Amino acid sequence: MTDPITRPPRKNPVRRTRLAVLPPWMRSRIALGMTAAAAEGRFELQQCARCGAVQYPPREACHRCLSDKLPWREQPDGGELISQTLLLHSHDLFFRERVPWRLGMVRLDSGPTVVVHLHGDVGPPPQRVRIGARLDRAGMAVLVGFPEKDVPNMADDRQLREMTCDPRFRKVLVTDGKTAVGQALVRSLAQAGADLIWVGCAEPWKPAPGYERLQDLPQVALVPLDLTDARSVQVLAAEIGAKVDILVNNAEVHRTNGIATRYGTEVARMEMDVNYLGLLRLAQDFGPVMRARGADGQSSAVAWVNLLSIFALTNFPTHGTYSASKAAAYSLSQCLRAEMRVAGVRVINAFPGPIDDDWNQLLPPPKLAPDALARAVVAALRDGVEDIYPGDVAQEWVARLRESPKALERELSVG
Ligand SMILES: [Zn+2]
Repeated sequence: MTDPITRPPRKNPVRRTRLAVLPPWMRSRIALGMTAAAAEGRFELQQCARCGAVQYPPREACHRCLSDKLPWREQPDGGELISQTLLLHSHDLFFRERVPWRLGMVRLDSGPTVVVHLHGDVGPPPQRVRIGARLDRAGMAVLVGFPEKDVPNMADDRQLREMTCDPRFRKVLVTDGKTAVGQALVRSLAQAGADLIWVGCAEPWKPAPGYERLQDLPQVALVPLDLTDARSVQVLAAEIGAKVDILVNNAEVHRTNGIATRYGTEVARMEMDVNYLGLLRLAQDFGPVMRARGADGQSSAVAWVNLLSIFALTNFPTHGTYSASKAAAYSLSQCLRAEMRVAGVRVINAFPGPIDDDWNQLLPPPKLAPDALARAVVAALRDGVEDIYPGDVAQEWVARLRESPKALERELSVG
């Protein structure tokens, strides 16, 4: 059985953190299909459109009939462990630092035999296992063999924690504690075992329901943070930046305007200042210091979460300028993801549908409850995925976007 992890010891402040080392990350263009699915938590393999054969590793042509029509399809996760090995030596620096490392070969129920990282609770072969696709520290898909049934402390497995960003015993900054979503995030992170949660607030003197009560949680420290003020971001980064393991940027401004319904640029500028430039200011001050802490063992910086919106992917005209600011933030977060990846720090983008808050009052249900959104963010950290679409509306929009972006654009334009 996996031993539960314990609180990591305090780091010796004199000891320098080395540069992060990544596992082998070169993949062919075709093989990135597996990463694309794993980034959203799905286990997909190529499946021939002509003869139906499932194949692994990914190739340009079907191994059975040579067809090049090889769409990625979600696969059943069952299989049989047929052999295992324990790596005690490796020429690869990442694994050399982490041996012993357990690997196995699994014959999938769908046909092919795959190489997997083996969870510590999987017994010796022959053995039924569950297969899951996960992103490794380099952000590339790898396969993991899990025990068939859940066991206690499963997430604490040493090898698995190299691929996830579980908040347990980690220090988190939530950038805005005044909103219902911010408060739900803080509660969910505390429940998930976060060690310390700094909660930002742009105007601490202005009362906001529920904000003061966050202090009743023993892990919480309220801090001043105004994303529109470069100095405020710099001061906080200098104070706590070197301790933040997970940063959750949920601060946002949201008004309901299209172009014609509100003359002038003042409100749009306010949205951009927080939603886009606020993220840029955070990334410039917290990014480098988190990147430098990608190799601090159990207390490494591991993740950066951006609360975007499904409106970032296609404009919702009644929330037009807000959609545009979120689209800008989405683009910037892809840049941040590329820059953080070299240190093994994962950037997670959340694209929720309309949240049940003041600014979506006029929208008909279904709307996403702040608690449900917070739970989805914690689950994303635990599973180590990159992109989540919480809520029914987001799920439906993203499915339709993939089918036809133009059709969805036209549908939204007529209300
Ligand atoms: Zn085929």
